[in-house]
Amino acid sequence: MTQPRQQVAISVVGSINMDIVNEVREHPRPGETIHGLSTSYYPGGKGANQAVAAARAGAGTAMVGAVGDDVFSGELIASLDRSGVDTASVARKAGTSGLAFITVDGSGENSIILSEGANGQLTPDDAREFSSRARIALLQNEIPWEVNAYVLREAQKGAVKVIYNPAPARPIPTEAYPCIHTLILNETEAEEIAETKVGDDPNGAEAAADVLLGRGIQAVIVTLGSGGCYYKDASGIAERREAYRVKAVDTTAAGDTFIGAYACALTEGLSVRERLSFASAAAALAVTAHGAQVSIPDRVAIEAFMNAR
Ligand code: AMP
Repeated sequence: MTQPRQQVAISVVGSINMDIVNEVREHPRPGETIHGLSTSYYPGGKGANQAVAAARAGAGTAMVGAVGDDVFSGELIASLDRSGVDTASVARKAGTSGLAFITVDGSGENSIILSEGANGQLTPDDAREFSSRARIALLQNEIPWEVNAYVLREAQKGAVKVIYNPAPARPIPTEAYPCIHTLILNETEAEEIAETKVGDDPNGAEAAADVLLGRGIQAVIVTLGSGGCYYKDASGIAERREAYRVKAVDTTAAGDTFIGAYACALTEGLSVRERLSFASAAAALAVTAHGAQVSIPDRVAIEAFMNAR
């Protein structure tokens, strides 16, 4: 019989990727071979990034996901372990781990090939321990929808709060909305899912939140990059929060950091305003450094940053 897994505050059910980043002067044309300027390996994947963010922010966090049996799997798990994420519920699948081949040219423009690898092989059975391990679950859209649907259903039975980040955006089935406690999404995802314009309209984030709350979600946060974020919940609490002013060098994982830190703050019973401040501080720090998981700050850094403002 398998050992019961340790209790944690947060289970993240989601993707684990290795980002392989090649810097080039110009993107190659079809059929062309060019020399790269540098190659870097960054552990990433929205699920793993959010797990790292929650753990570094101070919450006991378990990752529920899958890696392959390739050369990257060991480093992907080690990167989670080093951040204090419990990896006992990470499955190993035959084949490659999730890989993101990212090419960045001299002007900073990206092109990305995402190879889902083991993430695409994750099953509801691999996720069955999430609800016995934690009272808060985090979900994104980089694993098969049937796993998300399973987590949403089981969470409702077990009174687990689900924080769902629908990224990359795709429509959310009607029956899933009431199972979502908090939906955290950026401007483009909000526009696609709520089918309203957010960008140019100062009240756009509120209009999108109203549409989504009307579908049965308890709380919505629309993140607006350097424009901060907007929160509204079914009890009528509404908060607009400015972003901290920092020198942004790489916004990779800003959203993931915000979400992990927000989840951590939710486990600590902080007020809405305190949760948004804590998450915004963590995300602001993440944009001041390159890479995904390597740029995610720990609790000491977040508190020092907040105290210095
Ligand atoms: P996004 O996913 O781009 O909407 O960003 C998520 C969160 O990260 C925002 O709500 C901000 O709190 C923070 N953030 C993103 N970009 C910046 C930036 N340039 N400066 C400060 N904070 C940022």
